[in-house]
Amino acid sequence: MIYADAILSRARLYTVDDAQPWAEAVAVREGRIVAVGDAREMDDLRGPQTEVYDLGGRLVLPAFSDAHIHFVWWALQRRQVDVTDVPTPQEAAARVAARAQTLPAGAWVRGGGFNRNLWPGSEWPTKDLLDATAPRNPVALDSKDGHSLWVNSRALALAGITASTPDPMGGVIRRDARGEPTGILNENAVPLVFNAIPPESEEECIAAVREGIPLAWAAGITAIHEANDTPEARSFRTFQALDRAGELGLRVLQHIPVANLGHALSVGLRSGFGHDRLRIGGIKIFADGALGSRTADMLEPYVGEPDNWGVAVVDKEELLEVVSRAAAGGLLVTVHAIGDRANRHVLDVLAEVRKQEREQGDAPLRHRVEHVQIAHPDDLPRLARLDVIASVQPLHATSDMVMADRHWGEPRVRGAYAYASLSASGARLAFGSDAPIEPFAPLLGIHAAVTRRRADGRPGPSGWHPEQRLRVEDVVRAYTWGAAYAAGEERARGSITAGKVADFVILSQDIFECRPMDILQTQIEATFFAGRLVHGKV
Ligand SMILES: [Zn+2]
Repeated sequence: MIYADAILSRARLYTVDDAQPWAEAVAVREGRIVAVGDAREMDDLRGPQTEVYDLGGRLVLPAFSDAHIHFVWWALQRRQVDVTDVPTPQEAAARVAARAQTLPAGAWVRGGGFNRNLWPGSEWPTKDLLDATAPRNPVALDSKDGHSLWVNSRALALAGITASTPDPMGGVIRRDARGEPTGILNENAVPLVFNAIPPESEEECIAAVREGIPLAWAAGITAIHEANDTPEARSFRTFQALDRAGELGLRVLQHIPVANLGHALSVGLRSGFGHDRLRIGGIKIFADGALGSRTADMLEPYVGEPDNWGVAVVDKEELLEVVSRAAAGGLLVTVHAIGDRANRHVLDVLAEVRKQEREQGDAPLRHRVEHVQIAHPDDLPRLARLDVIASVQPLHATSDMVMADRHWGEPRVRGAYAYASLSASGARLAFGSDAPIEPFAPLLGIHAAVTRRRADGRPGPSGWHPEQRLRVEDVVRAYTWGAAYAAGEERARGSITAGKVADFVILSQDIFECRPMDILQTQIEATFFAGRLVHGKV
């Protein structure tokens, strides 16, 4: 008799498997699910060595996937100096000083999150404060919105920025009355300093991700789609190194930046290549900018800015050429599209590429649009029709709602973050966080998608555009099966089904039954990865 290694019994299992949505027990052997059903069905699998966990009726779900995350960037950033929402610039400088004392002279101090709107007078800070607290180290702190940088004199010197440096196109080097740089760089002036900062070493990346993996487990995540990479393949190299060392405790789908499309094609790389811990995803392409900077490419101008229609990063003909080339080589595309015009163009291109796939007798690839933040009513149903995955991030809806109402306005904002419309049209949803832009806890995303409210309750009891709220089961599906489907792995994971990998989470309360606002209080009590308890306890 072959016994199970472990049995979770007396659970409330939501399986995300339509053949058997609810069950009370699951048995695991060698990292895989061997049986799902009621307690009696597990009796034959219970041997002397079998670990039996009595869950006392607690809710068990398939472990979550994050279908859009910048994990390496997030992992590196969390090691930096955190000055998020500090009440004064002096407090930011004090944190910089504390870090600088731990570093050798000349080493960069990186950090971010300051928001001058919270400070007395809302003035921009200056380099003097950082010069005084970190005289031996170059310092660069990002603003919370990521569009400005606060630096000290050493950083300016290393970047070669002086009174005579002209402002770059689309950027500002802030200057005092004498024309001297003050230590604040805006927009396109930011890269002048970034380009002077040496990239993190491979060892630093590996160490940062190694530290980050248990935090993903603590959030209930066992699979991620790494949304992009550097042209030097920083993320892919890091994940490979951890995989070689047997330390990659996540199932990673790695996308490739479009700058490397030619290389990927020339070595014959195809989407799906790899194994159950590390697999090649798609080619990451940007179609436009973002809402915050009002560079999302729009069919009509922004409210109150009759000349601003946003920015198309690539024209449609060029996009078609790139996507066709990728698809013909077996590489799916994962296209960042925020504005309604960007989304229309991407769907036009994908309609054409679907035709090409048919003509060439190729299996349709799992092309995806990232964000789909606003779509024209004519375009929303096209994702389903073209079988294009909507990879969306529910926390963006509640974070951006005020900006979306202000800059996009009625009536078109009704097509923004329109997850219920997408779902009703039959589009496949895959949910993610876009961390470090937003925190990566799926429970926060579930709360946002179900309530369309922020943690503080805004904008009120029925939420922002309540017709776009989703049911808990739909959201859970998008964070599990939907993301696994996007990765081409729906036969191996994404639901609690016999034969699939044993990745589960145990929650502290039943999010199907609790009041929607209380989803926020839910804890991840335990996470199983490949049948092993990697976080918490049962
Ligand atoms: Zn992203």
